[in-house]
Amino acid sequence: MSTTTEEPEEKEDYTYVNKDAIDKDLICSICREPFLEPMTVPNCEHIFCKDCVNRVPNNNCPTCRTVFSKAQLKPAHRFIIKQLENLQVCCTNGNGTCPWKGTREQLAVHKKDCTFEKIACGFGRFGCPFSGTRGEVEKHLAETCKFKDLRMFLDSYIALEKKVQVLEKKVESLQKNSGSSSSNSSSSSPVVIPFLPSSLIRGPSRSTPEEEEQLRQLHAAAMRYSNERAEKEKKEKEEKDKKAKETANPPANP
Ligand SMILES: [Zn+2]
Ligand SMILES: [Zn+2]
Ligand SMILES: [Zn+2]
Ligand SMILES: [Zn+2]
Repeated sequence: MSTTTEEPEEKEDYTYVNKDAIDKDLICSICREPFLEPMTVPNCEHIFCKDCVNRVPNNNCPTCRTVFSKAQLKPAHRFIIKQLENLQVCCTNGNGTCPWKGTREQLAVHKKDCTFEKIACGFGRFGCPFSGTRGEVEKHLAETCKFKDLRMFLDSYIALEKKVQVLEKKVESLQKNSGSSSSNSSSSSPVVIPFLPSSLIRGPSRSTPEEEEQLRQLHAAAMRYSNERAEKEKKEKEEKDKKAKETANPPANP
């Protein structure tokens, strides 16, 4: 399940189940679609999509010409937002072959495991070019992906990568809060990279040289990652030792 890459959040282009029946108070008069991120113009209280109203060239409300400043725009009342979230939409994945229907709010959740969603093979960064629907990628990973034997490795690699990112952010904010120079606690928890067992790298079942080469590259990437971290930690330690020495023995004045 987790052996998939996450796609960046995209602006939703909804397909409504019964667009004609949607309350016209929920329709933006600029784009003629149900609001996306509705914003209220102060004074006149007219509502437009955030993107639409921000593209208005002057500072007059497109509906009533009331003058406003874009900094004064406020998110629409939550009653409006709730109504928009409850609008019925279809999933458009697989050119409309996905039979799912539900609310705008539920669509994002559905797409996380819609079998018609187009995704790339999780081994893309290691050279697998395969992409397809989530269902096809699952099948590919189970049957034909060159890296299929390393699936468990990839899952833990991705999990570790996420953990490292979280930890790095934490360290950064800790350093900011404590004032940059006084980072005396080197409580760097060791990051364990799951190295591939050598049997996987030159195992007897490994047939084509191409496969072996790709496995070597995968292993090299893990090694590089680990070495870079070690190098960085070493540099940081040297830097710290140097600073400590300097404060202990200040350079003598002539
Ligand atoms: Zn609009
Ligand atoms: Zn207005
Ligand atoms: Zn779907
Ligand atoms: Zn693959």
